[in-house]
Amino acid sequence: MPQPSEPRPLLGTELEYGIAAPGRPDLDADALAALVVDHAAVPATTPVSDTHNRTLGNGGRLYVDHGHPEYATPEVRSASDIVLYEAAGDALLAEAAASASAALGAPVTLYRNNTDGKGHSYGYHENLLVSRAVAWSALEAALPAVLVTRTLFAGAGRVGLGQRSEDAGFQLSQRADFFVLTTSLDTTRDRGLVNTRDEPHARPSRWRRLHVITGDARRSTFATWLSVGTLGLCVAALEEGLLPTLTLANPTAAFRTVSRDPTCTAPLPLTDGSATAIDIQERLADAAGRLLYRREFIEGEALLHAWIDVLDALRRDPATLADRIDWIAKRTLLDALRARDQLDWSDPKLTALDLAWASLTPGGIVDTVRTAGRLVPPPDADAVRHATAHPPHDTRAAVRGRWIGQHPEAVLAATWDSLLLRDDRGALHTLGLPDPFAAGVSSPAPTDRAASASIATLIRAEQQALAQGGSR
Ligand code: ATP
Ligand code: MG
Ligand code: MG
Repeated sequence: MPQPSEPRPLLGTELEYGIAAPGRPDLDADALAALVVDHAAVPATTPVSDTHNRTLGNGGRLYVDHGHPEYATPEVRSASDIVLYEAAGDALLAEAAASASAALGAPVTLYRNNTDGKGHSYGYHENLLVSRAVAWSALEAALPAVLVTRTLFAGAGRVGLGQRSEDAGFQLSQRADFFVLTTSLDTTRDRGLVNTRDEPHARPSRWRRLHVITGDARRSTFATWLSVGTLGLCVAALEEGLLPTLTLANPTAAFRTVSRDPTCTAPLPLTDGSATAIDIQERLADAAGRLLYRREFIEGEALLHAWIDVLDALRRDPATLADRIDWIAKRTLLDALRARDQLDWSDPKLTALDLAWASLTPGGIVDTVRTAGRLVPPPDADAVRHATAHPPHDTRAAVRGRWIGQHPEAVLAATWDSLLLRDDRGALHTLGLPDPFAAGVSSPAPTDRAASASIATLIRAEQQALAQGGSR
């Protein structure tokens, strides 16, 4: 079981952004995505062989994946830091899209969503560090009920039912219609609720990286904080043997049931009886409460209180959460437009509003509702700006980001768990980062000292600091 020195969570998220430039139909999605990534104002570093794949000074990663610009946050230690580093990714990409638009002479728009309504879906992935001591079978058994029922507050909301929006209507999740299996390795076809990818990017005997692909990319920072944070609490409770295994009779069907039920009252068949999504979430929150007596979880108390408040509000009247939960905020706007213009769900004005909610172009509808105080505010703009170029201080991302930010010329290649560095004499050094918690030299050397020290000296100091951090 996990050591006391390993408080949870440790996590990172990946966002594949939707992209469109209707003024340039000659450019395919790959070319557009590459153009945006190339216009990002970040150090052009690793790996040298591929310019559309950059490791960032904040310890994250920016690349092209299946025709989408993708940003992966650095490894962080709290749900608040996920919110901050996701906002940094949005800021980097919104600026990159603006400069790509200027270069092209046609607007390039990025969307923080998960489907184009034409049969394609792209991911929002959550990655959580889990002890290898946890049996995979326990994760596989417990996760479907967690992932399906959290749609209550994790869903971004979507106009259209079915992969191609073949039926008119509204649903809570953007991704529910794209899952056909309970368990699978695939992330682009035949997707399973539980993804079996086993690439820990860390010492494999100690850790697993749980790769969760069912979630939505949202605009409400509160909803992201709560969704990522409560998932972390569930996984930590599972590590401690505290999470109940509630087995949905048909997990993929249950995902669609929850997604199509804005009243949040539909019963979900279990192998043993039935329960609503709210009932199941309350049982999970109960387990998380017991976890907090036993183990440190960063922001655990605040998450638990917010979780219980949201579940109470969903029982009473979901509409009261319009300032915090994406699908409810979006549904409120859609209902107002439907009432005003007498629209039915097949009207393209509603699809356009759905898309506008996801658009990262400044001055859009999300900015309007935020300014009006009808949606929780984003993180402080100065903190976001800082996070575009600086890593979190409390994970190995600090080492990665520090080298890329301060000595980009010395970094030949970067992966999540190693750096290939070249010193002043041309000698190569591999800096292994198998421990995600090890942040290397605790405080950056003062700039004048760092400037005068040779790269070889700095590499030695980093290696010593990492070695002293233990051998987890
Ligand atoms: P894709 O799904 O795009 O094929 P991927 O899931 O293998 O790729 P990346 O896009 O490179 O991986 O992103 C990895 C994410 O996982 C990052 O957000 C990173 O911060 C996070 N991460 C890396 N190592 C760990 C770990 N050991 N535990 C938890 N999160 C991790
Ligand atoms: Mg990825
Ligand atoms: Mg991924």
